[in-house]
Amino acid sequence: VHIAAAFSPLQIVQDLQLRLSSESEVVLTSSAAYSQDFIPRFSSSGSPTYVVGVKPALVGDVQKVIQYASQYNVSFLATSGGHGYSWSLSSVQGAIDLDLSNFDNLEIDESANTITVGPAWHLSNITSTLQAIGKELPVGQCPTAGLAGITLGGGVGPYGGMYGAISDSLLSVEIITGTGNIFNVSATQHPDLFWGIKGAGFNYGVVTSLTYRIYPATNNGEALIVNALFTGPKNASVWRLAGGLVGRQPKEFTINLAVQYNATLGGMIIAAGFIYVGPQAAGMKYMQPFLDLSPIEVEINYPVPYDNFTAVLLYGELKGGTQKGVPFVPYAVNLYQVDVENLIELFNYMNQTIPINSEIKTATLSWAQFSSYGFHLYPDSSSAFPYRDVAVFLQFDGFALDASDIPSLNQFGQEVRRLAQKGSGSTDLETYVNFGHGDEGPAAWYSARKLPALRALKAVYDPGNLFRYYN
Ligand SMILES: Cc1cc2nc3c(=O)[nH]c(=O)nc-3n(C[C@H](O)[C@H](O)[C@H](O)COP(=O)(O)OP(=O)(O)OC[C@H]3O[C@@H](n4cnc5c(N)ncnc54)[C@H](O)[C@@H]3O)c2cc1C
Repeated sequence: VHIAAAFSPLQIVQDLQLRLSSESEVVLTSSAAYSQDFIPRFSSSGSPTYVVGVKPALVGDVQKVIQYASQYNVSFLATSGGHGYSWSLSSVQGAIDLDLSNFDNLEIDESANTITVGPAWHLSNITSTLQAIGKELPVGQCPTAGLAGITLGGGVGPYGGMYGAISDSLLSVEIITGTGNIFNVSATQHPDLFWGIKGAGFNYGVVTSLTYRIYPATNNGEALIVNALFTGPKNASVWRLAGGLVGRQPKEFTINLAVQYNATLGGMIIAAGFIYVGPQAAGMKYMQPFLDLSPIEVEINYPVPYDNFTAVLLYGELKGGTQKGVPFVPYAVNLYQVDVENLIELFNYMNQTIPINSEIKTATLSWAQFSSYGFHLYPDSSSAFPYRDVAVFLQFDGFALDASDIPSLNQFGQEVRRLAQKGSGSTDLETYVNFGHGDEGPAAWYSARKLPALRALKAVYDPGNLFRYYN
């Protein structure tokens, strides 16, 4: 719904100023206050457009925005970290940006091992807060992504090998649903909705508080991270070693690979970032077979504190995720196996195509391979998160240097996804929802087996389908 047809942006501002508490901020997005005070988005492509920015101060204010939007058919989208990059968000046009950065509450119960946070919390504030008290929680790999947005889609990251999806550690949330109700939701209160929130949460309401189980820090909160660079001809050996670990990867061990163009060598290389959450000697045992392939560069980092992973992993490349307004072209495929022949074909395709096409030189194939141990601590039926058996979360990251490069990157990304999917071990395309491009469809994001229950929840908690934009 394009709101301009119904209400002018100014009228929405006036209406909401009247309805919301005085501590709330309601501004036109054309105002200076909007660019100063509101969370900027990571991606500038396939992104939403807003005419009004609202920063509610109270849970009741969020409720009033939802009621107003529902009554007058005005589109809105909640923003926690602003890192959602699905191009499905381009269906949000002329809408209200419901910025949740006032919800910065924090409560820790060290003896009960729980943490309660508001959606203003980003991954890096969480890890530094927990590191300071000798605790840990699985998080993702970008320091500024919102913990709320990641969790609502399931949440995968290095500590997942030990503890499962981030949403597996969720104990309860406070949510204002599409019906305008404020609910505390947990395994005992609205358990049906709690199930759906863990993997498909953004479809039902706005979450204003999240409580997680936390864990005593492993190895005093310190890990081993080894970065290495492999030249193109080594790719087959790297795939073989990684594939050999599927199903037997120690829970503390995570493999991150990035296939990317290296101008000096004039071809594709594989940058690797291996993590072992434990003592150096124990970790080196698992990394040694990779190092025996004679990478052209090796960097051993020990001890790396839990809250400093992203600065070190893959030579600090992940810090790029903290940028704003990146013309980003995402594609992703879940791999259920490591099909070495298919990966060689994919590598060769990239190696033949990228060096001679300047528009796609920044394209990166990102590989995240966690132990399945943590994911299998919870049965498939425990949540909407459908991807406990994934061997590798494979992503195509297209960072356009210029907006004019987007069409070429987009076409290339689609072809990379098609080739990768052939060897994925699944007949149909399956994609972790938070890594999706937006064109995969509900069965690919949520799995056909979970869709009926998710649709039944929709009918109860968001019958007006106010929360329909993000995948
Ligand atoms: C650089 C980078 C690295 C990443 N690394 C990882 C990773 O390691 N692991 C991983 O699992 N994912 C990762 N992601 C993907 C990430 O999970 C998604 O981008 C996620 O949507 C980010 O959440 P956010 O709160 O920052 O996003 P936002 O853009 O604020 O939100 C994304 C969607 O969720 C909805 N939403 C956000 N907050 C709420 C809320 N409180 N209540 C209801 N709905 C809400 C929004 O309305 C929107 O539809 C990464 C993304 C980037 C850009």
